[in-house]
Amino acid sequence: EGARVLVSACLLGEPVRYDGRGAALADTCLERWRAEGRVVALCPETAGGLPTPRAPAEIEPGGDGAAVLDGTARVMDVTGADVTTAYVEGAQRALALAQTHTCRYALLMDRSPSCGSTVLYSGHHDGRRRAGEGVVAALLRRRGIRVFAPDQIADLDMCLRAD
Ligand code: SF4
Repeated sequence: EGARVLVSACLLGEPVRYDGRGAALADTCLERWRAEGRVVALCPETAGGLPTPRAPAEIEPGGDGAAVLDGTARVMDVTGADVTTAYVEGAQRALALAQTHTCRYALLMDRSPSCGSTVLYSGHHDGRRRAGEGVVAALLRRRGIRVFAPDQIADLDMCLRAD
């Protein structure tokens, strides 16, 4: 049986994003993994109890997913509400699901305060970007799960083929 991959539900077209839309990734690798039964889908933010649609949120300037997990940064939505608890809960749900299905890999939507793995928004809700990882990516990596962004899907496919 092939290695399984935790995948951000929005990349599979599920309408779970903050704006109520999906972000379907059209890629033959993803289609093949689905056919092979490798894909475990989850939206950590909805799993953490957030509604859809919801106010867009960002990790505070200077913080990242690891700092949120360590309690030294918060996740704030655009209205100024502190939504840290739901984001941490969602990350814990994602880890639990990955462990249940023995996923050693994850393909996560980039730039999200949850799923981002290489890039985050600034934290000022100004559309600017910075290097960094979100809460889910940080927690999965701490537990040894290898996290890939959509533009790294070919690398992940090579890992799966060699697994
Ligand atoms: Fe997609 Fe992750 Fe955001 Fe859910 S939390 S909408 S899966 S990027």
